Amino acid sequence: MVKRVYNFSAGPAVLPESVLKEVQQELLSYQGKGLSVLEMSHRSTEFKQIMEDARSRMLKLMGLGDDYVALFLQGGASTQFYMIPLNFLPDDKEANFINTGAWSTKAIKEVKKMGKKLHIAASSEDKDFTYIPKEWQLSENPAYLHITTNNTIRGTEWKTDPDVPAGVPLIADMSSNFLSKPLDFSKYDLMYGGAQKNIGPAGATFVVIKKSLLEKQREGLATMMDYQTHIQKDSAFNTPPTFAIYVIGKVLKWIEDNGGVSGMQKRNEEKAGYIYDILDNSDFYRGTVVKEDRSMMNIPFRLPTEELEKKFIAEAAEHDLLTLKGHRSVGGCRASLYNSLPMEAARKLAEFMQEFEKKNS
Ligand SMILES: *Cc1c(COP(=O)(O)O)cnc(C)c1O
Repeated sequence: MVKRVYNFSAGPAVLPESVLKEVQQELLSYQGKGLSVLEMSHRSTEFKQIMEDARSRMLKLMGLGDDYVALFLQGGASTQFYMIPLNFLPDDKEANFINTGAWSTKAIKEVKKMGKKLHIAASSEDKDFTYIPKEWQLSENPAYLHITTNNTIRGTEWKTDPDVPAGVPLIADMSSNFLSKPLDFSKYDLMYGGAQKNIGPAGATFVVIKKSLLEKQREGLATMMDYQTHIQKDSAFNTPPTFAIYVIGKVLKWIEDNGGVSGMQKRNEEKAGYIYDILDNSDFYRGTVVKEDRSMMNIPFRLPTEELEKKFIAEAAEHDLLTLKGHRSVGGCRASLYNSLPMEAARKLAEFMQEFEKKNS
């Protein structure tokens, strides 16, 4: 038996053990072909099939049909911050944002750097990004509205899909809660994120685009920055991140086999419930965001002192409960409970939190 720890990393994050085992089994010889996916041409029949499976599985899990296209690109969600305005923000319109934290702020910064028009439709910066704004005001000529569905660092999450007026595309960074629960995905015109949080290893970026949005694309773009390039060549205009896509395909299959996105929601609610129950019933641990907006994926919390937080993180590690340190920009502790985190890990963490409180309060 290989020892495995309980991994609460915010990303790259835990993967299903069964997926890792399959990958291991196929590592030297993929389906008896005598070579590894690591060594395989992205133009081979085998890899084309892997790509096609992953792309169609993703759309199926989202309940989307032919009017959407799924891509796997490189450059991370961070490259999308730039690529989206480059493709869909004309000079005479404004990019609209709801600013809910560090990642939204980074997306906003890219538009500023381009010298283009933008409008902050709402922001929770006034209260340190501890809530999700419930109202917003779009600009006169919005090119689109951009939101971040889950705020990985602050631990807030949108509980409903925002309503936008007809004709205003809705664009969302879904990096850290993609496929963690059912959403009305058909309300969104473009959804993207780094795979390394909830659907696979680092190296691939998922992008799902409603085909009708492509009519609004600007012309004369650099080849690699143009979504059309990747759509026309089925995500293989140049060499795609083949191994990451292969693992993503397996994780998507694992999600299907475990009840799809509603199955994930059930598991995720139960896991987050263990931790939130403790935060809600303790004077020792303190949640840092408003209750109604708290995330199922990333749970930041504080202890009475920074000293105790250090001790908590160190002793947790001795119990194989790893990566519980909060993001360097906010401090404290954070447990990330993505799809692939086993139920047992959340239970063990809850147990440990109770013991630690007893000993130290
Ligand atoms: C991690 C993260 C990003 C950045 O993703 P990269 O793939 O590292 O560029 C962007 N947005 C959110 C919400 C994230 O959690």
